[in-house]
Amino acid sequence: MINELCKQAFETAKSKGWHDEPRETGTLLALIHSEVSEALEADRKGDKENFIEEIADVCIRIFDLCGSKNLDLEKAILSKMERNKQRSYKHGGKAY
Ligand SMILES: [Mg+2]
Repeated sequence: MINELCKQAFETAKSKGWHDEPRETGTLLALIHSEVSEALEADRKGDKENFIEEIADVCIRIFDLCGSKNLDLEKAILSKMERNKQRSYKHGGKAY
C-alpha cells in the first residue's frame, strides 16, 4: 500500500512537470522539510485542519522522493518499526 502511494505521488508530480529534469535528493529533502515547517506554523496557530493537511504534504513529499528513486519505503518502515520495538526505554537515556 505504501509503495503504491509512493508510485502515485511520483506519477502525479511527474505529470505536473516536477520531474522533467532529474531532481537532487537534497532538493527533495529540503521540500519535505518545508512542509514540516508549515505543519509547525499551523500548530503554532492552533489550526488543526491545516496542521493535518501539512502532515499529509510531508508524507506526499516523502512518497514522491521514494517513488522517484524507486526506494522500497514500505519494507524500510516495517523493518525499522520492528527494530524500534527492541530499543531501550528512551533509547538509553536520551532527553528527547
Ligand atoms: Mg504544504
